[in-house]
Amino acid sequence: MTAPLRRALTAPSFAAVLLGGALLGSLLLEAGCRRAPDAHPSAAAGNAAPGPTAPADTARPEAAMLDSGTVVLPDSQQRALVKNDSLWQKALRVHYRAIVFDGHADTPTLMAEEGYDIGPRHAPAEAHLDLPRMKTGGLDAVFFSIYVPSYLGEGRRAGARARRLIRVTKRQLRQYAGRAAFATSAGEVRRLARNGKRAVLLGLEGGHALAASEDTLRAFAQRGIRYVTLTHIRSHSWADAATDTLRHGGLSEKGEALVRAMNDAGVLADLSHVSDSTFYDALRVSRAPVILSHSSARALTPNARNVTDDMLRALSENDGLVMINFYDRYVQQDTTPALEDVLDHIDHAAQVAGVEHVGLGSDFDGVPRLPAGLGDATRLPWLTHGLLKRGYTEEDVYKILGGNALRVLEAAEEAATKPG
Ligand SMILES: [Zn+2]
Repeated sequence: MTAPLRRALTAPSFAAVLLGGALLGSLLLEAGCRRAPDAHPSAAAGNAAPGPTAPADTARPEAAMLDSGTVVLPDSQQRALVKNDSLWQKALRVHYRAIVFDGHADTPTLMAEEGYDIGPRHAPAEAHLDLPRMKTGGLDAVFFSIYVPSYLGEGRRAGARARRLIRVTKRQLRQYAGRAAFATSAGEVRRLARNGKRAVLLGLEGGHALAASEDTLRAFAQRGIRYVTLTHIRSHSWADAATDTLRHGGLSEKGEALVRAMNDAGVLADLSHVSDSTFYDALRVSRAPVILSHSSARALTPNARNVTDDMLRALSENDGLVMINFYDRYVQQDTTPALEDVLDHIDHAAQVAGVEHVGLGSDFDGVPRLPAGLGDATRLPWLTHGLLKRGYTEEDVYKILGGNALRVLEAAEEAATKPG
């Protein structure tokens, strides 16, 4: 599974031939691109501890969505951008003040399977994300996907794989403790952002690794997992996937019990990859907002991995969040997409669900091709510029970039304190 991804990342033209745009290819690829750490609770707690004392939130209403705001693009690049387009001055200010939060990156698989090191800067052809490029791109927080391939089933191998990816991720974060830290809450993300450190949170993809057990779910929550993608590409014993035959017509009774257990544990239910019926079942059962950590809009690109307008409206009712996937196959069906096409998906979701219900879910390091102009984490400021250019207010842009993600994370934390 790893080899095709690495080839795709290092030799795009070869990848294009290899993958040929076939739906099956893209499906397998997205599947293949994911792979999945586990640490001593004491070490995890150490990593998550706040840094130096941060200044208190100011009275500005948007203060909770802001960090220190240092622009780190090279001076020459900044001057060139601003010279040709006066809007860039505002875009840079907004982008680097915002807490920018990405819902889904598959970097732990690269770390576990290929020894990928997030410390040094890498070329986009090598991987999409590392700590230096997160800083350059103003990306403050990211959910790292603890990816467990569907073929591992629901037995011990799936759980072991997830624990290994958690372990590897936490080990690297300890190594780079001056620059990044493991985080499990919105409050920790804000503290880290104010101190100029990257926050890494963990999501489990997918639910088959829970072995249909509430105890296993709680054990993963202890290890710092903050969302569970209910399925990956295959339906399993308690939930149906978007890309497989329906076994239950949504969630089974056990599946409903597991979603309630997620609410109790402060773990978000992630509905990317699930069937439409599972989506509606989860919304009916969950007493906390749900997320789609990496999906785009089906009205623009008809793909079962994307959300329909009706699902977007339901998400709005649930106060949930769709985090728009950058993967070229989900952004454009037939042609090679560009950054503007990703903006179209954000725009569409904001129009149908409301601006409070849209975020970013890059799928960095999990997909072989990204839209032109959005080739790695350093390109995120261009999204901010594009949103402002389309007339989004500063407040709206703060929400899309990360404010909404922080809100749903907090809502999940609060739900856990209130028994169902
Ligand atoms: Zn995925």
